[in-house]
Amino acid sequence: MLKLLLSGIVLISCLALTTCLPPAEQDEPSNLPPAVQYEGPPPSATLNEKAVKFLKRFGYLRESNDNNLVSAEEAIRSMQAHAGLLQTGTLDEATMAKMESQRCSFPDVMTAEDKKKRYSVVSRWRNETLTYGIFNYPNCTIYTNDQIDAIIAEAVNEWVKIDPSLNITKFVSGTPKINISFVFFDHSDKYPFDGPGKVLGHCFYPGTGQMHFDNSECWGDGTNGTKNLKYVAIHELGHCLGLGHSNDSLAIMNAYYPSNNTQCKPAADDTAGIQSMHTTASP
Ligand SMILES: [Zn+2]
Ligand SMILES: [Zn+2]
Repeated sequence: MLKLLLSGIVLISCLALTTCLPPAEQDEPSNLPPAVQYEGPPPSATLNEKAVKFLKRFGYLRESNDNNLVSAEEAIRSMQAHAGLLQTGTLDEATMAKMESQRCSFPDVMTAEDKKKRYSVVSRWRNETLTYGIFNYPNCTIYTNDQIDAIIAEAVNEWVKIDPSLNITKFVSGTPKINISFVFFDHSDKYPFDGPGKVLGHCFYPGTGQMHFDNSECWGDGTNGTKNLKYVAIHELGHCLGLGHSNDSLAIMNAYYPSNNTQCKPAADDTAGIQSMHTTASP
């Protein structure tokens, strides 16, 4: 409102100046900068190949809708809403940049509840004691194996702290419910990794319990080009526990890996999500 008021005042001042000043000499060179030219293509709802790939991969566009501009616009709006962007429905610069940024490789499951709340619950374990096991360790990391064990335990504990009813321990025998591994590219599920950058990991929802990290990344504390193992582990554990992606940009369950990722703990929205599992019916 203040902005509008100020721009109104500036506009009025300019108009007043224009009417008061004498007309400029015809030959006098103008000191005004040239008008800014937009050189890129105009933003459009027409999907380019990269956008189609992204929107399909993350659950916004179905096969049959490729050439349907209404659906394309809806898909883009939906993606923008989930990413916390202005919902223009067009492939503007911010949207294309977001599609290039680092994120979880799981689709952004959209439910009717998304309009009402930011977190989403996809499924849940039923009164089970959960165990996890670390199958292998990353090829590139600043950590020792013991340190990685400790970081995964810390990530588990971040969820237990906000939901003490969770019972998750490191497995000692038998088969763990949640298998953690570092894998490359195509690794026999529907979500192949893509080499360094972009997608970083995923974890299947309750019942399957496979947590995969992209082994093409260098895992560390998020500094010096490393990916923050604890941050991504907390996010992927959230999926293992049944949470989908949140459209709250502060939530650790937001699909996108933030450039400032030192806040390695669930946010208020994540807490509301995990605690809601005790009060809502199973989807
Ligand atoms: Zn995710
Ligand atoms: Zn996988």
